[in-house]
Amino acid sequence: MAVKCITDIDIYNKRVLFRFDFNVPLDTTGAIKDDTRIRRALPTIKYAIGKGARLVLTSHLGRPKGEIKPELSLKPVASRLSELLSEKVAFIDDCVGPKVQAVVNALEPGDVVLLENVRFHPEETKNDPKFSAELAKLADVYINDAFGTAHRAHCSTVGIAEMVKEKGTGLLMKEELENLGKAFSDPKKPVVGILGGAKVSDKISVLKNILNKMDVVLIGGGMANTFLKAKGLEVGLSLTEEDMIQTAKEIMERAIQTKCLFCLPEDAVVAPGIENGQEARVVQVKNIGSKDMVLDIGPATVKKFTAEIEKAATIVWNGPMGVFEKDAFKQGTMNIAKAVASSKAYSVVGGGDSVRAVAQAGVSDEVSYISTGGGAFMEFMEGKILPGVAALES
Ligand code: AMP
Repeated sequence: MAVKCITDIDIYNKRVLFRFDFNVPLDTTGAIKDDTRIRRALPTIKYAIGKGARLVLTSHLGRPKGEIKPELSLKPVASRLSELLSEKVAFIDDCVGPKVQAVVNALEPGDVVLLENVRFHPEETKNDPKFSAELAKLADVYINDAFGTAHRAHCSTVGIAEMVKEKGTGLLMKEELENLGKAFSDPKKPVVGILGGAKVSDKISVLKNILNKMDVVLIGGGMANTFLKAKGLEVGLSLTEEDMIQTAKEIMERAIQTKCLFCLPEDAVVAPGIENGQEARVVQVKNIGSKDMVLDIGPATVKKFTAEIEKAATIVWNGPMGVFEKDAFKQGTMNIAKAVASSKAYSVVGGGDSVRAVAQAGVSDEVSYISTGGGAFMEFMEGKILPGVAALES
């Protein structure tokens, strides 16, 4: 079934309730550390203001677990939005109820109001129909532009969509679906997947799904250790998941059946611990000692992975190649980021750490598409239908 976009819907003088992902990182003083998520919502907001909609903005921030937590208020987002738009953005300290309805009903075309954190209400994350109905009272049209929470079936992402007749994606959600669709649904071959990060257990479903779809899978990060151990190699003090060794073996066997070239590191940067960067050294994976901790991929692995990246027509990347937060262990991730950026392939990067790594390498503008999704990006990689998108079908 088809999903409409905001551009397909008449929104003039309508109360349009938007679900955005304003889940921005805050520092200890409550100031916004990084406003990327607010900036990514601007095209949709500006479009709707231009079309004379009456804008009702909603989002979550953090995990208040159904309680009012002043430090997780969206109020600072209203101020930041107002600066970025050079428009007044009103703020209400709740997101449902008669007081909110009165403010929303009094909005004029082009007016913008941001409602308080939807997760201050415990019903939100339970997709409670009564709470969804309360939200729906504020909307003639519902627009979901929060790709980052599209994998969650909550009231503001799914429940409300089932209760409002006119609904669709915002411009960012549309862009995400188009770009990720290009990488996963009908990609140009060869397709190279780069998978890293801490654990195999977090990414089993992704691994199982991509073996059928990708020609090459490059594995780095802590998760590579479990595969090395499954091949009978010593991994010393490295992060490993004993209970995933059998699964790791099955995944490698499956890669052979599906003719997916499954590449593990050949060498690694090791140290006695994460805090011992000054003692870092490069070893072949067959020479990892019992007191070594693998904390990055080594230069030979970078070379091998780069050669595969250069041959790719499509690249999908999720998860860092090492503990890139530490200078001694960031080189592998930085070099892979640069290789992805230099490649002529259509490249998509998703997940908070990988996006940060690409920014740290100074190559964000050279990657074809940077997704705003972390969990949602992973579920897309797993081949799942995102509930927040399914709920927009009309
Ligand atoms: P994830 O959220 O699963 O993508 O994992 C990201 C985290 O994995 C980052 O904070 C990295 O520091 C960490 N990581 C990457 N490589 C390793 C490694 N070899 N050992 C321990 N942690 C790692």
